[in-house]
Amino acid sequence: MITVKGLHKSFDGNHVLKGVDITIKKGEKVVVIGPSGSGKSTFLRCLNLLEQPTQGEIWFESSNITDPKTNIDKVRQKMGMVFQHFNLFPHLTVKKNITLAPVKLGLQTQEEADTNAMHLLERIGLADKADSYPNMLSGGQKQRIAIVRALAMNPEVILFDEPTSALDPEMVGEVLELMKELAKEGMTMVVVTHEMGFAREVATRMLFMDEGIIMEQNNPQEFFSNPQNPRLKDFLTKVL
Ligand code: ADP
Ligand code: MG
Repeated sequence: MITVKGLHKSFDGNHVLKGVDITIKKGEKVVVIGPSGSGKSTFLRCLNLLEQPTQGEIWFESSNITDPKTNIDKVRQKMGMVFQHFNLFPHLTVKKNITLAPVKLGLQTQEEADTNAMHLLERIGLADKADSYPNMLSGGQKQRIAIVRALAMNPEVILFDEPTSALDPEMVGEVLELMKELAKEGMTMVVVTHEMGFAREVATRMLFMDEGIIMEQNNPQEFFSNPQNPRLKDFLTKVL
């Protein structure tokens, strides 16, 4: 589904991604861990061109999305993204947050989008919040709404950038539960997280990113029980 070849990204001479190569297949759940500043967010943001790569190619299905001729808006419709700080529109109701993109892009009529939004809100037990504004919700509720907002576009893949890092501890579980459900339903997911329990349970593949490269990757069993790179060993002793 996604192929990354020789991806480099620099910000004003700060060389952040130093050659990332990876292929992600449909249905995979790739969990990315690594120290702060190692380039995890930059990597995710390059996947849907929220950041423009300095060098390298990114293919999504049969399109080279780094080719300027590709319609990136069409590609982004199929790549949902969930951020640490939710990024809900504060001036829009919950329902409007969910329906805005599919209606604006002409994928659904307002009526279809409203019906779909209510189904999604029922699914997460927040139908009664449809007409509330984001500031009336808890962090866990906001993040679950951000996730169903991504789902409302029927994406092929969802990219999660530390979706539980900004939450109070008692709200982490409800967000991880929803992510586990999506995983079970077959969603392709790329997840940057520090939640190692989630990673062990859900990941089909673990990546360790350090200093702008994928320093190690493996199935979760091997990755956690038999890490090879000393930097990964050291990192795991700190987070486990
Ligand atoms: P991580 O998510 O692993 O903590 P990031 O990808 O956020 O790491 O950041 C990696 C490096 O890239 C950091 O040094 C950060 O300051 C830099 N960086 C990230 N985004 C930008 C940006 N938009 N402009 C300039 N520097 C950036
Ligand atoms: Mg980050």
